[in-house]
Amino acid sequence: MDRLEKAFDRVVLGDIVTGSDTLRGGNVAVRGETIAAIGQGPPPEAAETLDYSGRLVLPGLVDGHMHTGSQLGFPGIAWATRSAAAGGVTTCVDMPYDTPAPGTDDAILAEKIAWVERTAHVDVALYGTIRKSGGIGAIAGLAAGGVSAFKLSTFEYDPVRFPRIDHATMREAFAEIAKTGLPVAVHNEDQELVTQLSAAARAGGRSDPLAHCQTRPPLAETMADQAIFELGLATGAHVHIAHSSLARGFAIAAQFRAQGGRATGETCIQYLCMTEADLVRLGGRGKCNPPFRTGAEVERVWQALLADQVAYVSTDHAPWPLSRKTDPDIFACGAGLVGLQSFAPLMFTLLAERGLAPGLMATYCAERSAQLHGLYPRKGAIRIGADCDLLVLEEGRFHFDEAAIVDRPELRWSPYHGRALRARVAATLLRGRLIWDGEQVLARPGDGRFVKRQPAPGGT
Ligand SMILES: [Zn+2]
Repeated sequence: MDRLEKAFDRVVLGDIVTGSDTLRGGNVAVRGETIAAIGQGPPPEAAETLDYSGRLVLPGLVDGHMHTGSQLGFPGIAWATRSAAAGGVTTCVDMPYDTPAPGTDDAILAEKIAWVERTAHVDVALYGTIRKSGGIGAIAGLAAGGVSAFKLSTFEYDPVRFPRIDHATMREAFAEIAKTGLPVAVHNEDQELVTQLSAAARAGGRSDPLAHCQTRPPLAETMADQAIFELGLATGAHVHIAHSSLARGFAIAAQFRAQGGRATGETCIQYLCMTEADLVRLGGRGKCNPPFRTGAEVERVWQALLADQVAYVSTDHAPWPLSRKTDPDIFACGAGLVGLQSFAPLMFTLLAERGLAPGLMATYCAERSAQLHGLYPRKGAIRIGADCDLLVLEEGRFHFDEAAIVDRPELRWSPYHGRALRARVAATLLRGRLIWDGEQVLARPGDGRFVKRQPAPGGT
């Protein structure tokens, strides 16, 4: 039969995981780039069959928080998205803190979009940000250019690339962002507290890993959370904690919602499994902000997740080369973890270890992040009419091997190196095409596309 006469271009066989159900012996049929049918039992006729019978087929993950360009700038897009393809992440929502030019106006955004279209291996949505001062006028243009959200910070890593926005400027910016209807994610650490505690620790001769946790205590986060949500309540902006390592962050967001605020927060996978003891073990390789907390706090974050208080789970993939992560002085190490390629197998494992269903991964690592970023229902779920972005997991006994990371050579390290895993990524499909076959990245630079935020029904 001629290819054109077949009902579908491709059919994918496997156990299809949607948010709430798993269709055992199911199938997803593709026409063009989109899902045209979902079924169970005998598959429909198609020009091509990808048989993953007995394996789990989930929506491709939507990582709502990652950084491609902190060190390399726009050339980082190609590499990070290559690693995403191998990790089953089919949409990256990339932060704007690129070197040398963060995403502070529509001209920079247009340049970044061109880099995405030319070099990305998976689809990419983008955050926008503002300059430390004098940049609020650019907000409307960034929204019109299709950013999915804005990102601001209460803590300064660099006055140009990653500045602290003071409260008065933040108030003005939130009011302007509120007009666009877009969410604004905020890096939530109190500058004054962290700066003074760090200076005192260093003056006292501390440079050990635990000093990193102790100089960025829970209070540094919760004070920032309160401030940004107060500013959100005053301005009507949807304020989103960019990463809460603490269950209290989600409780505080819930309180502000109860008072009429549009307040949410996400956590990152590391806050669902890593503890201060891991930072001591890993040294600089385990340094990120906010830092790992106690084992008891990890349990509380899980409780918040299971109580449906967490907006979504992300990686905060922030790939510093190993040379920036190995100084014996913890304060001299860069803050950020390599995490894209370990995201899916580790999340599956964490759920399995707790006896929880993999559908939670579809919900919290794809559907919810796509919804918050205005990419749903095109992205984030196995639904008819959606882009056919799929992640295929093979269950078994594996260990995460950092040597298998397909990013730049200096980024082939992982805080999860050697960790026992209960699954590996057997395949990734992007808009119906196989881009990772379990061994090799088949996507080429430019196969990924920029994904614009879609207008919400009813206006904003
Ligand atoms: Zn981040």
